[in-house]
Amino acid sequence: MGEFDLIARYFTRPVRPGGGVALGVGDDCALLAPAPGMQLAVSCDMLVEGRHFFADVDPAHLGHKALAVNLSDLAACGARPLAFTLALALPRVDELWLQAFAGGLLRLADEHGCALVGGDTTAGPLNICITVFGEVPAGQALLRSGARAGDDIWVSGTLGDARLALEALQGRVQVPAGMLAAARARLETPTPRVALGLQLRGIATSALDVSDGLLGDLGHILRASGVGAEIDVDEVSKLIAASALSTGDRGHFDTELLRQCTLAGGDDYELAFTAPPARREAVARAAAAAATPVARIGRIRAEPGLRLVDAQGRALAGRYASFDHFAG
Ligand code: ADP
Ligand code: MG
Repeated sequence: MGEFDLIARYFTRPVRPGGGVALGVGDDCALLAPAPGMQLAVSCDMLVEGRHFFADVDPAHLGHKALAVNLSDLAACGARPLAFTLALALPRVDELWLQAFAGGLLRLADEHGCALVGGDTTAGPLNICITVFGEVPAGQALLRSGARAGDDIWVSGTLGDARLALEALQGRVQVPAGMLAAARARLETPTPRVALGLQLRGIATSALDVSDGLLGDLGHILRASGVGAEIDVDEVSKLIAASALSTGDRGHFDTELLRQCTLAGGDDYELAFTAPPARREAVARAAAAAATPVARIGRIRAEPGLRLVDAQGRALAGRYASFDHFAG
């Protein structure tokens, strides 16, 4: 099968009218038509075999994740997904693989009304690069720079399960089979919090998506906003879904492992955001409208730096580094 047949068979779909796309796959450019008064939100993420996923990962999961991590960036800005492009390097044409990959990718795309409008296809080591386009009313995007002293710090969903799965798959911890399956689903098919991001417009003072680990990613908000923070470590530890499957199973994990996974795990694709205490009701309503749980895990302080406290309010030492591809 040649390049053009492959594109036609797996990656070409009719464009839905009224979805913000005037022209999709097939010409030299796609044409996007954001509504008047909207800004385009654009983000790009690359997934490289051996770096971001194992060679033997289920291709349907890989297709899902490649788009999910990009939709997560739109969610963090409070943008509504419109369209995406797909740049794909493939070592060979494996139709079963392509069918599953396209299936996982386009299923998630359809869930979010996000059209595949173009891309590039080449031979080479497996590499997937997606660029997403979303729209947000001008001036209303959620940014990293708006956190203010006194704001609450919130996080959506669950944290740490993806990291727990990775630790287990690489043989560093033992996890019961049912728990591993659930944790692995969080690693391989994360849920982008698009609905929550949209609901938080006008409520959150800052937001980002947690991709490299909570503390490291929060550091981006603190730097961009020129503030510090205090984090309730024991509240964060509770956010790992794996521990909730069975209270008896919690004994499998020591406190330190739970802290590592939840504070510095990475690959969670949850939203971390700040909002003034006066908006707690509004945050709760936003979370309910988005059917996404949220938890309050700390507060923004004027003093710079990140202070970790336990349930008794005692300061904790310890470095919980987040993931950095170039860290030595
Ligand atoms: P060009 O030579 O102008 O870059 P290509 O021959 O690479 O165009 O691609 C032909 C058409 O197919 C273009 O509209 C391009 O956006 C689209 N396309 C190529 N690869 C993909 C892909 N993996 N997914 C979706 N569309 C693709
Ligand atoms: Mg091309």
